[in-house]
Parts: sequence; C-alpha cells; structure tokens
Amino acid sequence: MTGAVPSPLPGSAHPASALPASALPASALPASALRAEGVWKAFGERPVLLGVSVSLAAHEVVALIGASGSGKSTLLRCLGLLEPIDDGRIFLGDEDISDPRIDGNRVRARLGAVFQSYNLFPHLTVLGNVTLASRVVHKVPRKDAEARAMALLERVGLADFAGAHPDRLSGGQQQRVAIARAIATDPEVLLLDEITSALDPELVGEVLDLVRSLAGSGATILMATHEMAFAQGVADRVVFLDEGVIVEEGPPAQLFGAPEHPRTRAFLTRFTA
Ligand code: ADP
Ligand code: MG
Repeated sequence: MTGAVPSPLPGSAHPASALPASALPASALPASALRAEGVWKAFGERPVLLGVSVSLAAHEVVALIGASGSGKSTLLRCLGLLEPIDDGRIFLGDEDISDPRIDGNRVRARLGAVFQSYNLFPHLTVLGNVTLASRVVHKVPRKDAEARAMALLERVGLADFAGAHPDRLSGGQQQRVAIARAIATDPEVLLLDEITSALDPELVGEVLDLVRSLAGSGATILMATHEMAFAQGVADRVVFLDEGVIVEEGPPAQLFGAPEHPRTRAFLTRFTA
C-alpha cells in the first residue's frame, strides 16, 4: 500500500485538506469532530478503501452514498475502530485514534454506532439494552443510567416499552431503541449504517424522523444511506463513494442537482431511474 491520497476533485468542499497538515499553522487547521486522512483498507487481495479522506465538523450531518459494495460500511467500521486500517490516519477530535498504541475500547466508548440490523440483546429488556453501555463501560450508577435511559425512551416514543424484550417490538421500534442505546452515552459522533434498509417501507419514516430530530438538536452524524430524499433534506453535505474512492462531495443541492463527475451522474441516474 502506498498511502498516496488521490488528488482532490474540483469542487471539493475542503480545499484546506488538500494541503499537508504541516503546511498550515495549527490555528488554521479546520476543526473536525472526526477526520480520516488517506485511509486504505483491503480484505485479502481485494482493496476496498483506496486512500479515503473525509472529515466531519462538529454538529455536521454528512450522508455517505454509493452503490452496494462501494465500501460505505467498511469506511464506517474503520472510522469506528471496528476494523483495522492498512494505512492512513483517523482523528477523533484532536486525537489520532489510528495510533496502534491507543486504547480502542476507550475510543469506541466516545462513538455511537447503529447498523442495518439492530443487534439488540434479546435477553435484556429495552431499558437493559439502553443502559448497558452507560453502566458497564462508563460506570454510571444504575439509577442515573435508568433515569437517563427513560428520558431517551420518552424522546424516541418508546417509554411504554421499557420493560419489554426486543422481540415484542416492530423493526422500526427496535431500530429506535438501537438509536437510543447509541446516544445514551453522549457520543461525540454517531455512525449510522443504512439503518432503515432492513425495515418494512411503512416503518422507515419513524426512524428517519428520529434521525432528523437528532440532527436538528446538534448531533454530529455520518450516515450511509440509500434514502436519497432524506439525504437531500437532512444532510449538510453528501459524500459519494465509488469503488473505494470519494469521487465527489458537496452540499445536497449541488451533488443531487448538479453533479460534476460522470460517475456521480451515472450512479444517481441508476438510482433514481
Ligand atoms: P457497502 O457498504 O458500500 O455495500 P461494504 O463496505 O460492505 O460496501 O463492502 C465493500 C467490499 O468489501 C465488498 O466487495 C465486500 O464484499 C467487501 N467486504 C466487506 N467486508 C468484508 C470482510 N469482512 N471480508 C471480506 N470482504 C469484505
Ligand atoms: Mg453497507
């Protein structure tokens, strides 16, 4: 692996990131909540991420779009330290979390992640699922963790289900619990990986409404999604990943309305056809 970063495309939203960090005084570096620099990842012989650089400002909502197999989940998993990278660097705030000497569990405790399949613990109640990380990882006393979890369940409209086991809930309700669980520990960044794609169509709206509400209250979110209308309505910025390369990024109106790159145009045509 070479670690070379593909040259920035015209219209890149982050001209500063095209310069080596050493060329900028520290005060001029863009403040970011999460930043990947030239991340490479292969599975065996198959390269999946080819020098991906992407950054997320605090309170920014970024939609990650791209065909199935383009590397969206792998990127989210690498950013969340759920998958080791081959080359490049990842920063959470100011900290280089790709440094092999860091404590991965401590870093993962600062992030929230929700995946396509909700992965709630079936043997725990809804309340037990939402309080688990607070109690075990963050050592929050049970009473405090439960009070906070109840407030969150209220917020996601599921307080009545606190004592129920996940199998009593619909897919949409389970995914709302998974989101409550992810935000229970006040993560600095939320990584959402196609969290509506396993849901029946009539349940998608309630989950998207919740994400919209989190975005509105200042959460920092990177979400892989196939919901283009939602990305257009909620994201501050859209990043298009194609075969492990970020081909184009920009505000939704620009990326959807006037995509510059032929590969972006081809994808959007295919997708909206
Ligand atoms: P997307 O989320 O955009 O659909 P993925 O990141 O899931 O894409 O997958 C990108 C490529 O990496 C695919 O070719 C997939 O088969 C491959 N891949 C993903 N995870 C693994 C893994 N754990 N082992 C081997 N190959 C993988
Ligand atoms: Mg995926």
